[in-house]
Amino acid sequence: MVVSPEHPIIEKYKAELKNWDEIDAYREQAAHKSDFERAELAKEKTGVQIDGLTAVNPVNGKEIPIWISDYVLMSYGTGAIMAVPAHDQRDWEFAKKFDLPMIQVVSKNGKEADISKEAFTDVATGILVNSDFINGLDVREAQKKMIAFLEEKQIGTAKTNYKLRDWVFSRQRYWGEPIPIVHCETCGYVPIDERELPLELPEVESYMPTDNGESPLAAMTDWVRTTCPCCGGPANRETDTMPQWAGSSWYFLRYTDPHNEEALAGKEALDYWMPVDWYNGGMEHTTLHLLYSRFWHKFLYDQKQVPCKEPYQKRTSHGMILGENGEKMSKSRGNVVNPDDIVRDYGADTLRTYEMFIGAFDLAASWSEDGVKGCRRFLERVWKLQDMTTDENGYSKDLETKMHQTIKKVSSDYENLKYNTAIAAMMALINDFYKKNSLTGEEYRTLLLLLNPTAPHITEELWEIMGFEGHVYEQKWPEYDEAKTIEATVEIAVQINGKVKATILVDKDAAKEDVIAKAKEAIADKLAGTVIKEIYVPGRIVNLVQK
Ligand SMILES: [Zn+2]
Repeated sequence: MVVSPEHPIIEKYKAELKNWDEIDAYREQAAHKSDFERAELAKEKTGVQIDGLTAVNPVNGKEIPIWISDYVLMSYGTGAIMAVPAHDQRDWEFAKKFDLPMIQVVSKNGKEADISKEAFTDVATGILVNSDFINGLDVREAQKKMIAFLEEKQIGTAKTNYKLRDWVFSRQRYWGEPIPIVHCETCGYVPIDERELPLELPEVESYMPTDNGESPLAAMTDWVRTTCPCCGGPANRETDTMPQWAGSSWYFLRYTDPHNEEALAGKEALDYWMPVDWYNGGMEHTTLHLLYSRFWHKFLYDQKQVPCKEPYQKRTSHGMILGENGEKMSKSRGNVVNPDDIVRDYGADTLRTYEMFIGAFDLAASWSEDGVKGCRRFLERVWKLQDMTTDENGYSKDLETKMHQTIKKVSSDYENLKYNTAIAAMMALINDFYKKNSLTGEEYRTLLLLLNPTAPHITEELWEIMGFEGHVYEQKWPEYDEAKTIEATVEIAVQINGKVKATILVDKDAAKEDVIAKAKEAIADKLAGTVIKEIYVPGRIVNLVQK
């Protein structure tokens, strides 16, 4: 059993603890870490066994040692856990570090899994073992039976734990949604009349924070003083405002019907748009924003204000862009890059291209001025291609495969948020144009279509210069032919007695005798003896064995 270092049980039994100094020193250490450091960042588990205090398992009467460790947070659940080292990776790491016994209680199909390297955490569908009266049951059944057992013996009851904690919902600042409540001396807290909603902030000269800790609204007495909707007597408006996540938890609902004066959004609009198909946001806000917005949504669903149980169907996060030194951008570190400066010096398309090229979408990446310049050069090279186009129709024969491959790759990369590799594929394609020193009009047209989401301005400009019809944004996305994405020729290594002597290019469907003949031709001057065996591994190797 592991309890949080702050758990009140420690103070309560202080007199009975035999290693108080050790416990106290550990508590002091833990106090200096944030919840995040303790729960998420801790690579190495730490802890102290409480000497002089043990727990008793109420089901089987067994005595259990109690430890304190900072990976257990007082603010989460009860601040005490019954560790299951065989089935929880953090408990497993803790047990491993302190050489504690691990008892497997959930198995895969009744067969014990190997827990010597890591915990067996795929327990949702497992079968109970080493567990007395619940052996052989699946986890769901076992849970029901355990709870029934505990309730029958009156040693426990079923309870649902939520990750969402109580949280202060008021702020002492001007900018925030005003809370539509008045304080009446007679009636207490009274909600304002629905016809007065939405309650708006008063227009004021100054909304700076006060030095007495009160909300700036408190000083605006004209706004504060009102009448009680209940008894008509004098009342004061609530002067605290809501925190920013009050709005961020449901704004997307309003987006579906922003001009609606009657409701947060009309039923028809909500039915049409909700749930959000794909919700993307910053990494930093994943946990709290996701919890809050789902909580609000579920409340609104229960109130029959929204048609769906969940607000989003798919959620992704983009990585954070760090300063050039690899640290988070901040004024105090002096490593902030202002996008306006980049747009002024290199253009908006360069900024867009660079941000998409900087790294994998979901990972943090460091800003690099050289990288920006590289993207600018790439776009300049795209620009100059306008002078290299030929009158040839369609795709040229030697680049046809490459064109189909590039369309395929860029299309699927965009779809999967792999913008960096999509851009890399386009860079490789224009390298091929430059190698040839020419490209067909059709090849250019396709490139502009593929590049348009990344660099919309110059591609649209080039589209017009080239005299292509309409605008890029009106065009169909280019198509590829799967059969044409496969190279028509393959490179084959030609070996003599297992040693590579030459390489040849052959048609990928070429017959064995044709390949062998071509191979012999390529190494004619190196063949000294009689060939006694000819081996052909299609698409890869010809090996000629000679005496
Ligand atoms: Zn009243």
